Amino acid sequence: LKSVVLKDLVKTYIGNDGNLFTAVKGINVEINPGEFVTLLGPSGCGKTTTLRMVAGFEIPTDGEIFIGDENVSRQTPDKRDTAMVFQSYALFPHLNIFDNVAYGLKLKKMSKEEIKEKVDSILKLVGLEGLGLRAPNQLSGGQQQRVALARALVMEPAVLLFDEPLSNLDAKLRVYMRNEIRRIQKEIGITSIYVTHDQSEAMSMSDRIIIMNKGNIEQVGTPKEIYEKP
Ligand code: ADP
Ligand code: ADP
Repeated sequence: LKSVVLKDLVKTYIGNDGNLFTAVKGINVEINPGEFVTLLGPSGCGKTTTLRMVAGFEIPTDGEIFIGDENVSRQTPDKRDTAMVFQSYALFPHLNIFDNVAYGLKLKKMSKEEIKEKVDSILKLVGLEGLGLRAPNQLSGGQQQRVALARALVMEPAVLLFDEPLSNLDAKLRVYMRNEIRRIQKEIGITSIYVTHDQSEAMSMSDRIIIMNKGNIEQVGTPKEIYEKP
C-alpha cells in the first residue's frame, strides 16, 4: 500500500485565446495508504487536471507528486504504479471480456496460465464470474464499468484513480455501483482517488473528501466533518 502526496502542485495551461490559465493553484494533499479520497467540486475547478497529473497524463507546471517514497512528478504514466478508471469505459469492442481484461497483461509477456489465473480472479472480484466470453455490447452499462474496473485492477497498481466513473449510469445503478466500488476497494485495500461533482456520491463513498473550488482546496474532512461544518 502506498501514500500519495501532492506538494504545492500547480498546473497552468495556455488557453485557446493565448492567455495563461491556472487550473490548479498550488494545492497540498496527503493521502494515506489504503485511503479512499474524493475530489469534489463544480465543473472546471481543477479536479480532473489534478487526477491527470497524478496519473502522469499531465506534467505539473510546478510542485511535486510523491507515490510512496518516490517523487514521480516528471515520470511517464507507465512508471507510476497508478491505473485510471474513466467515465467512458473505452473497452475494445472486438475483444471479449476476458481479452479486454487480459490486454495489459499480454503486453507484459506474462504466461498464459498466469494471465488466466489473474483475469479469472479479478472477474470474480468485480462480480463478472462466467461472463469472460461475452462481447462488450452484450453487457449492461454497469457490467461494462465493472470490466473497466477489472482492467485497471488486473495490473495490480498501488493507486487507483477514478474520473467520474459512474456519470454514464442511470441513478439507481449509480447508487448500487458506489457500494460495489467501495466493497472491491476495501477488499484489496488499494489507495484510491475519486473525482466527482456529485456531492451525495462523495458523501456516501469517501474516507475523506477534498472540496476544490477555482483551482484551490477549500475544505478537507471526513463526510461527517464536512456535513457538520459545511
Ligand atoms: P474539473 O475536472 O473540475 O471539471 P478540469 O480539471 O477538467 O476541471 O479543468 C479545470 C480548468 O482547466 C477548466 O477551466 C478547463 O477548461 C481547463 N483545462 C483543462 N485542461 C486543459 C487543457 N488541456 N488546456 C487548456 N485548459 C484546460
Ligand atoms: P471534464 O470536466 O468532464 O473532466 P473537460 O471538458 O474539462 O472534462 O476535459 C476533457 C478533456 O479536454 C481533458 O483531457 C482536458 O484536459 C481537456 N480540456 C479541457 N478544457 C480544455 C481546453 N480549454 N483546451 C484544451 N483542452 C481542454
